[in-house]
Amino acid sequence: MKIKTKLNAGVGLLFFMIILLSVLGGWFIYQLKKDTQNILVANYNTLQYSRNMLLSLEEIDRQPFAMKEFQKNLNLQSQNITESGEKEATRNIISHFSDLNKDRNDENLKSVIRKDITELMQLNMNAIQIKSGIANTTAENAIAVISIAGTLCFLIAFTLMVNLPSNIANPIRELTFSIHQIAKQNYRERVRFEGNSEFGELAKSFNTMAEKLQEYSESRLDKILKGKKRIETLIDNMHDAVIGIDEDRKVLFVNDEALKISGLKKEQFVGKLIQDVAVGNDLVRDLIREIIDPQLQKKTEPELLKIFVEGKENYFEKEILDINVLPTGEDSKRFIGQVIMLRNVTPFKELDLAKTHFMGTVSHEFKTPISSIQMGVQLLENDRIGNLNDEQQKLVVGIKEDTLRLLKITGELLNLTQLETGVVQLNIRPSEISKMVESVIAANQSAADNKQISIKFKINKNVDLVNADYEKTSWVLSNIVSNAIRYSYENSMIEINVEKKEDQIKFSVKDHGYGIEEQYLDKVFTRYFRIPGTKADGTGLGLSISKEFIEAQGGEISVQSEIGEGSTFYFSLKA
Ligand code: ADP
Repeated sequence: MKIKTKLNAGVGLLFFMIILLSVLGGWFIYQLKKDTQNILVANYNTLQYSRNMLLSLEEIDRQPFAMKEFQKNLNLQSQNITESGEKEATRNIISHFSDLNKDRNDENLKSVIRKDITELMQLNMNAIQIKSGIANTTAENAIAVISIAGTLCFLIAFTLMVNLPSNIANPIRELTFSIHQIAKQNYRERVRFEGNSEFGELAKSFNTMAEKLQEYSESRLDKILKGKKRIETLIDNMHDAVIGIDEDRKVLFVNDEALKISGLKKEQFVGKLIQDVAVGNDLVRDLIREIIDPQLQKKTEPELLKIFVEGKENYFEKEILDINVLPTGEDSKRFIGQVIMLRNVTPFKELDLAKTHFMGTVSHEFKTPISSIQMGVQLLENDRIGNLNDEQQKLVVGIKEDTLRLLKITGELLNLTQLETGVVQLNIRPSEISKMVESVIAANQSAADNKQISIKFKINKNVDLVNADYEKTSWVLSNIVSNAIRYSYENSMIEINVEKKEDQIKFSVKDHGYGIEEQYLDKVFTRYFRIPGTKADGTGLGLSISKEFIEAQGGEISVQSEIGEGSTFYFSLKA
């Protein structure tokens, strides 16, 4: 039933009951009034007339108006006949009174009349008694009926009072609770109102809404799960090993490649603390070095990890990524874990090795013919073989310069292949410094002469020997001097200085050339780097090879320079 109908029915019933009670009360009061009025009109008046007639009768012989009074009351009584027998009694009085009219002093007649009047009075008194009984019964009936009706009304009103408010309040309470549940994302919540009241319709709409929300949330969850599966498959099928850990270093996921190279099973990884896994696995221990000691990360340069996988040498590049997310409604990012990636660079490494071997073979094969060209050119210059005209002389000089350049390049490439394959063999022994410096100057003299550059050298008296590989150190010094010549203006000067500082021998080569911009000072020692705009020929390898040669001998190399003023290259080795 609709709430409106229910309210209407409840209030209407109460209204009807009020009317019923009022009508019943009114009707009974009317009945009682009628009963008492009957007594008053029908009997009380008769008694009054009878009394008056009795009084008049007493004075009828003395007072002339008593006769009239009697007649008047008798007339009134004749018109007020209400009880059975009253008519006869009144008629008796009338006939006896007419007899008395003839003789007013007839005492016998008077007493007969008195008797008649008494009988009339008796008749009416009896009627009063009966009517009073009727009125009593009416009052008792009224009390009974009104009590029953009142009790009934009370019961109905009480039932309405108990049921009607809860009929409205209960569904509202249940609905409020369900709305709270939906707000807490509990989309399985449903309301169960029965009937076809407005609440029933509300419940139906609410349940449809909850069902749709549930469907939506489940489809969203399904989407997220599918997305997660996709990413997991992607990570699993990567050729790079991937390990994910949370902020407490507990392993969240690990892909197949990581399992393959570590030789561990998934159960031995996932859900465990990575440092606990590292205890029994050398590779994992190596991987998490930087995570355990963050200082290491800053110090060490990324190095290649050589790992044997399925009997084959594989090279991996390690990378550790921090995962920081910006939580909704917050300003700062929060650290939620790390991903350790081992990028498989074996194919690149193989290509690099092939390139190194190729470079090594080619430069080695080139060296012998170039050397014989150099010898041939030197022979051509010799007067004993024959005189050359000016043009031929110029050509020979050009060939000589090109040959030198080719020899320099092949030398650098050979050194580079040695460094890359790790087969640099150092022959460290006490080496004579003056001999080394002099031979370097001699080797570069013709290039210096071409630009009218003079080379000066100063070797401190207390310095004669250096504990170094003579060949490699000569090569480094020669490379620095040749750079100094190439990057200097004509008619300038180069100073070579060798001095002892504590237990170190410090070589320095100062030129007055173009100088190097501050931003490039660090970079000149990296492979294949040439300052942008450099015109002179070169490969960008000389200084990087020099650095590696010096560092392999436990020494240090550095540069100071001012643009336009010149540069000074230093390297120091053990005395
Ligand atoms: P390159 O074969 O190009 O000389 P290097 O490794 O010897 O290779 O030198 C790297 C770069 O450093 C050069 O290309 C040049 O730009 C710069 N450089 C080296 N020495 C000097 C110097 N004495 N004065 C100015 N620039 C220099």
